[in-house]
Amino acid sequence: MPTVYIGLGSNLNNPIYQIKKALRILATIPTVSLKKYSSLYRSKAVGPKNQPDYINSVAVLSVKLSPFQLLKKLQTIEIERGRTRTGKRWQARILDLDILMYDNKQLQSSNLILPHPELYNRMFVLQPLYECVPDLILPNGQQLQDLIRI
Ligand code: ADP
Ligand code: MG
Repeated sequence: MPTVYIGLGSNLNNPIYQIKKALRILATIPTVSLKKYSSLYRSKAVGPKNQPDYINSVAVLSVKLSPFQLLKKLQTIEIERGRTRTGKRWQARILDLDILMYDNKQLQSSNLILPHPELYNRMFVLQPLYECVPDLILPNGQQLQDLIRI
């Protein structure tokens, strides 16, 4: 079964609760097996500065879903948790579930890019990812630990 890394983020409505709740929801999906998850990390918001800090985590899943089925599932969970989309980038949100990697698949479509385009740039996902899988090799061939040491 494909291994998938999910980035979880929240900066609204008790973010710590939101991330823990999302992890519990992921664990109940029949086509998903939650293998591991990191501790919670705090980070400053990207983009507009007048928003609360984020709580982030990374989950390692084994899935019986295609990348597109998984994206749909994650978006349904975001909406069920009360997330609304205004169409603006970097807006504060109750829950953000991003597919960081789906095995080493590389994919560019209008609604899904794999690996996640910001994967290599965001310490708030690289750090929790490193906690879960310290020896991970990223889809571009780089060792995750080399990005963490910088
Ligand atoms: P953010 O970029 O802040 O995570 P959204 O969660 O609103 O913003 O996502 C915007 C769009 O990004 C989604 O509608 C989704 O189709 C698209 N997207 C592209 N690649 C991915 C990915 N790897 N994981 C999750 N969403 C993705
Ligand atoms: Mg997202």
